Amino acid sequence: MSDDSTIVITDIKAALSATDREAEEKDAALLAVGGPINGTLFDIGTGETSCGRSAQNTIPLEFQGVSRSQFVVHSNDGYNFVVNDAGSKNGTFLNNQKLVGPTPLNKGDIIKVGSIALRFLPKGDPERLTYDKLSMDANTDGLTSCYNKMYFNNQCELEVKKSKVTGTPLALILFDLDHFKNLNDNYGHDAGDYVLKDLSGIIRKNGVRDPDIFARYGGEEFVILLPMTNLKQGYEIAERLRKLVEDYQFIYDDQRLPVTASIGVADYRQGVLNGNDLFRRADNAVYMAKDNGRNQVQFFKG
Ligand code: GH3
Ligand code: MG
Ligand code: MG
Repeated sequence: MSDDSTIVITDIKAALSATDREAEEKDAALLAVGGPINGTLFDIGTGETSCGRSAQNTIPLEFQGVSRSQFVVHSNDGYNFVVNDAGSKNGTFLNNQKLVGPTPLNKGDIIKVGSIALRFLPKGDPERLTYDKLSMDANTDGLTSCYNKMYFNNQCELEVKKSKVTGTPLALILFDLDHFKNLNDNYGHDAGDYVLKDLSGIIRKNGVRDPDIFARYGGEEFVILLPMTNLKQGYEIAERLRKLVEDYQFIYDDQRLPVTASIGVADYRQGVLNGNDLFRRADNAVYMAKDNGRNQVQFFKG
């Protein structure tokens, strides 16, 4: 064997063990197979994971035939899991057998509730990485790596439901870049693309916490959904981000590009019945920011 092929084999081994290590860091998961949420992954860690039709569940499944409290999965160590029905109306099925008590989960087991089937992927399962990539591709935007509009809409709907039940605050920040058409016309479309990409990077680094959902809603419109954040806090974060965008030097072809944003902020409160209501309030605030001269933050005033 030549030296070259030894190197190649060593590289493959290194790559494989890197994949194993990456997989090992991932939690166990339930993977939806078939049906309306095919390919969706739900992490399950230590402690109790609940699943059911109400938004309070760790895994909310709003589908026909699913009870408000459907089943629970429990683990003490993140490796060994036990599943049990949670007093559901129609029962929970494990590999087509109705659950009648706590039952251990094994790799590939199928939990069936109503029309939804979930496959158990144990912690460290390399198969997990394939599904991570698929769900990443389905939920994110190629240019900016932000979540896409569809993912945002689903999460926004879900978070509003949670806030309705728990009363916890929820804020939404909506950005629209100012005169972006002019920027494209004056500096070229590639310069515009560069701005969108760089902008999403700096926002991600400077203001997005773990529970926040940062998404590209449209061409030059971005949203940040902030659980556990009230209007005042949302406004302060938005103002910090506005300043960050204004001060950041977007340099393309040795020229500094003029980039500012008009930002609207709204929060969950009486009158907000669903995710769309929350979005419309933030959008309304963006219009006010545009009307008032752009490069500023406004909050929804009703
Ligand atoms: P305003 O301050 O009122 O928001 O003005 P605007 O020019 O930003 O608003 P308008 O909605 O009229 O234009 C948005 C522009 O964003 C139009 C479109 O060419 C540009 N745009 C949308 N998506 C992309 C993209 O992916 N890349 C680039 N380079 N430009 C994009
Ligand atoms: Mg726009
Ligand atoms: Mg714009």
